[in-house]
Amino acid sequence: MKRKLGLVYGGKSAEHEVSLSTAQAVTRAVDFDKYEVIPVYITYEGEWRKGEPLLAPVHSIDELRLQKDEEKPDSIHDFLNGDGLPDIVLPLLHGTNGEDGTVQGLFEVMNIPYAGNGVLSSSAGMDKVVMKQLFAQSGLKQVPYVHFLRNAWLEKREHLIEKMESELAYPMFVKPANLGSSVGISKATDRESLYAAVDTALKFDRKIIVEQGITAREVEVGVLGNDQPACSVLGEIKPVAAFYDYEAKYQDGNTELLIPAPVSEAVEKTLKSMAIEAYKVLDCAGLARADFFVTDNDEVLINEINTMPGFTPTSMFPLLWQHAGISYPELIEKLIGLGLERHEEKK
Ligand code: ATP
Ligand code: MG
Ligand code: MG
Ligand code: MG
Repeated sequence: MKRKLGLVYGGKSAEHEVSLSTAQAVTRAVDFDKYEVIPVYITYEGEWRKGEPLLAPVHSIDELRLQKDEEKPDSIHDFLNGDGLPDIVLPLLHGTNGEDGTVQGLFEVMNIPYAGNGVLSSSAGMDKVVMKQLFAQSGLKQVPYVHFLRNAWLEKREHLIEKMESELAYPMFVKPANLGSSVGISKATDRESLYAAVDTALKFDRKIIVEQGITAREVEVGVLGNDQPACSVLGEIKPVAAFYDYEAKYQDGNTELLIPAPVSEAVEKTLKSMAIEAYKVLDCAGLARADFFVTDNDEVLINEINTMPGFTPTSMFPLLWQHAGISYPELIEKLIGLGLERHEEKK
């Protein structure tokens, strides 16, 4: 009997389109002799729709979305109560309502096994402020930062600017606390651009984090596993842009990825042990990608953990594992296996 594999993609998130690329790539990699794929598209508005598997080649993300939008909507209830309840779900979602534990919570209460991180690690990993506070508590080194909510900014922005300027130096990185793919992030080089950067970030979130900008190499590592996680080789990013922004990640194709990253053995060891520590601190399961800064004098600082890292065949996470001899389809199999294993363990 074929296993029913739910692929959930799209989503009410600023990273909707990234999710569509992932879903398309995963669909192509799935073994259809082994799985019956149940594709579930979540629209920008958050409506759930059952669709055909995304096998047909599409030339642009727009085309893909239109194709899905024309379908007759099914409600989330049809999916969850209907005949096609999946044996395992891959939540191929990035950002809010997908990477943040909300959809994972839905699968938990429905008792449907799913791949990847659970509720706690997803939500703690999505909020950069909560994540950094947990990292700090376990002694993981990171850049200094300041955080505040929209209402504080509206009431006393001068005071907050003063605080940022006294605790941090320019350039600063201003980020919405709960996002990814660099959406809403800007680099502020002076007071004027700091004001503008906060206003930009506030369009995406009510919580803002402002970090000390650092001049450093960017090195990432993939982590895979449940209670005994393992690290991939390291990968370095060489963005051509001012920083690794949305265009550099998904559009311009100019960013160079160095796999394995040319770092010393000592740096590799430190970075991997910090990655495992961070994974455990957030109680991650399945997979994560940990992002680091490595300074000129080989100081290693953790930037973040991504609980649903970019997952197209040309994304860092699958490329890192490919280097270790695990192909894209094999990686999907592993994630399914880890998801089922974790579901069993919770019983
Ligand atoms: P993703 O989840 O796709 O990795 P994100 O939206 O969570 O991205 P970050 O990884 O925090 O965002 O930052 C995006 C990029 O901005 C980094 O890869 C780096 O190029 C740059 N950047 C972020 N924070 C800093 C910092 N404190 N100093 C220097 N550069 C930074
Ligand atoms: Mg991130
Ligand atoms: Mg992300
Ligand atoms: Mg990152």
